[in-house]
Amino acid sequence: MKELVHKLYEEKKLSPEEFFRLLSDRTEQTEEYAEDLADQVRKENYGNVIFVRGLIEFTNYCRNDCYYCGIRRSNHKALRYRLSLEEILDCCREGYSLGFRTFVLQGGEDGYFARDKMVELIQAVKREYPDCALTLSIGEKSREEYKAYRLAGADRYLLRHETADEEHYRLLHPKELSIARRKECLWNLKKLGFQTGAGFMVGSPGQTAGTLTKDFLFLQELQPQMVGIGPFIPHKDTPFAKEKAGLLRDTLFYLALIRLMLPRVLLPATTALGTIHPEGRELGIRCGANVVMPNLSPSKVRKKYMLYDNKICTGEEGAEGIEDLKKRMEKIGCFITADRGDYKG
Ligand code: SAH
Repeated sequence: MKELVHKLYEEKKLSPEEFFRLLSDRTEQTEEYAEDLADQVRKENYGNVIFVRGLIEFTNYCRNDCYYCGIRRSNHKALRYRLSLEEILDCCREGYSLGFRTFVLQGGEDGYFARDKMVELIQAVKREYPDCALTLSIGEKSREEYKAYRLAGADRYLLRHETADEEHYRLLHPKELSIARRKECLWNLKKLGFQTGAGFMVGSPGQTAGTLTKDFLFLQELQPQMVGIGPFIPHKDTPFAKEKAGLLRDTLFYLALIRLMLPRVLLPATTALGTIHPEGRELGIRCGANVVMPNLSPSKVRKKYMLYDNKICTGEEGAEGIEDLKKRMEKIGCFITADRGDYKG
């Protein structure tokens, strides 16, 4: 199995059969080999630099009803909120003073933030912080909407594909959502010149070596500039309340494979990874990740943006904990930079 890892490292791609083999029966040695190589590749490309993004969760209203997600439309227990333009700019101000040069606006698919509102918001942030990168993560929109956001100044867009397998997609989402549409959005974003991020949850219900093979093949084809993966974690008020969470080991192995396949990719060690293990993010970096995304949302709303149970949201994962984060990174021989951290192909 080691030879498949080495092949991925050398050639940056594998066939469907090879991915399937690597993903279905790996040994501990294969894991270690992949993770050490990934650590090396991260260093070759980025040295000891870790990029930070300030995450602003600006609305938890959502029109969608994804079975895994705590802010799905049907979760009537979710306390809904949206931040005002002023509140969002306050988050940016706070973030800027802490050294953040990328802001990520993430939210549910909230009809209130229709095209004109979003354009206004993007322009306001870019006007006040022209030296910062702005990332959007607000779901599926028409090509025209994406274009308007790009013209307004947004630089990057995160839209995880969640699973590239059609049947698996059906299992995770209600029928009005489709993987075809999701992929189309991603291709549109790429063509419009966004630094584009795809990705998937690890250990989501119904995930198999077969569905994961399709995820890796899709990433290989899309060549995204960013990839977000993190363990699935059940949320008590969703249809998946009783499902098992994704595993740390699996997440680390897939992070490593992604680093080998896309050597220059911007790859976050996610909040979900930090939620299932106290040192999840450090371990992620050890396996090829090079981005962390501390929370810049006002503390009064953090508990309301509960995508899954026990999401860390009160301690040092927050942006105000940046000093702790710096220390944690130094412990593993890395340092945080105030650079925008754009993708360099
Ligand atoms: N509405 C936006 C943002 C979604 S939230 C969009 O559609 O892109 C960001 C990511 O959180 C999702 O893409 C999903 O992969 C992840 N997520 C949602 N529920 C989760 C859960 N229960 N466990 C782990 N990750 C989850």
